[in-house]
Amino acid sequence: MAMARGYAATDASKPLEPFTFERREPREDDVVISIKYSGICHSDIHQARNEWGNSTFPMVPGHEIAGIVTAVGSGVSKFKVGDRVGVGCFVDSCVGCASRDIDLEQYQPGLVGTYNSFEADGTPTQGGYSDHIVVKEGYVLSIPENLPFEATAPLLCAGITLYSPLRNWGAGPGKKVAILGMGGLGHMGVKLAHAMGADVTVLSQSLSKKEDGLKLGADHYYATADAETFKALAGTFDLILCTVSAEIDWNAYLGLLKVDGTLVLLGIPENPVPVHAFSLVPGRKSIAGSMIGSIKETQDMLDFCGEHNIVSEIELIRMDQVNEAYERVIKSDVRYRFVIDMATL
Ligand code: NAP
Ligand code: ZN
Repeated sequence: MAMARGYAATDASKPLEPFTFERREPREDDVVISIKYSGICHSDIHQARNEWGNSTFPMVPGHEIAGIVTAVGSGVSKFKVGDRVGVGCFVDSCVGCASRDIDLEQYQPGLVGTYNSFEADGTPTQGGYSDHIVVKEGYVLSIPENLPFEATAPLLCAGITLYSPLRNWGAGPGKKVAILGMGGLGHMGVKLAHAMGADVTVLSQSLSKKEDGLKLGADHYYATADAETFKALAGTFDLILCTVSAEIDWNAYLGLLKVDGTLVLLGIPENPVPVHAFSLVPGRKSIAGSMIGSIKETQDMLDFCGEHNIVSEIELIRMDQVNEAYERVIKSDVRYRFVIDMATL
C-alpha cells in the first residue's frame, strides 16, 4: 500500500478538507498515474452533498483526471512511464461482460466508478482530487500530444458525455442541435457539435454568455428566460441535449423539437420532473438519457479533439479553492470548467 494525499468530503454537509488514504500497490495490469490536473464536474458536487442519495464517505471526488504515468505493472503493454494519460468516470466494469465488446460497458451493473464506488473486493474507490491513482490498463486513456494538458482533463467527463449522444443521434451536417445550459458540459457540446458540422443553438438562461457561445462555435444563441424564445423556436430541433443540473419544465423544451426529434437528458437533477403525454405524442417525439461513454468511445473522442484542437475553456484553481469553486458552479458562475492544479495540493 502507498499513502495518497487528497481532499475529501467527510460528510454531505461539510466542506472538503485535506485527507490521507491508501492506494494499492500496482498489480500486473495496473498503471500508476501522478495526477497533474483534476476537473470539477457538477456530479462531484451532487455526490459530495449526497444529492442523489447514494453517497459513501469519506469521498475523494474527481473523475476528470489528467496525469503522467510513473510506473506500470509487469503485464502492461499500452503505456510506459512518462506517458500523458487520462482517467474518466469509471475504473473497472463487469469482467468478461459481453457489453465490453459492443462498447457499452458504462451501462452495466458491474461498473466501478472512479470514486463513490467499490472495487470487486469491496475496497472503496477514491477519485482525482489526489496526488496519484492506480488504474487497470484497460481503463486508462491516451491524451493526444498536441492538446494543452490542463484543459484536456474536462474532456474525460464533460467531453465524452456530449460526444456520445451527438454521435449516437447522428449530429452532423443538416442537423439542428440545441445545447441546453452552457456550463461545463454544455460548452463542450457547442464545440463538439460544431466540429461535427451540425447547426448549433445554445439555450441558456440569459444572454450573458452569448459572445462566448458564438465564439466557441454556436450558430444561434437564445435566452430561455424570454418566453418569446419558445414561440420563435417551436418545432425547430432534431436533437436537444439537456445539461441542466436543476429541475426545469421539460415539456416546454419538447415543444422545440421537430417531428421525430429527441430530447436527451444528460443533467441529473435531484428531483423527478413530470412529462405530459401531449408533449410527446403529437410529433412522435422521444425523451432519452445518456451517460458518459465507453472506453473505446472516450478514446475516439480524445482523438477527435486532437484532430480538431478541441479542449475545455477552464479556470485553473488551487486545491484549497475547491469549496469556493463548488459554490460558484452552483451559481452558474464558471467559464466554463474549474480545473484544480494538483501541484498545489
Ligand atoms: P454546470 O457546469 O453547473 O452546468 C449546468 C448548466 O445548467 C449551468 O451552467 C446553467 O447554464 C444551467 N442551469 C443551472 N441551473 C439552472 C436552472 N435552475 N435553470 C436552468 N438552467 C440551469 O454543470 P455540469 O458539470 O455541466 O453538469 C451538468 C449536469 O450534468 C449535472 O447534473 C451533472 O451531474 C450531470 N452530468 C451527467 C453526466 C452524464 O453522464 N449524463 C456526466 C457529467 C455530468 P446557463 O447558465 O447557460 O443557463
Ligand atoms: Zn462528470
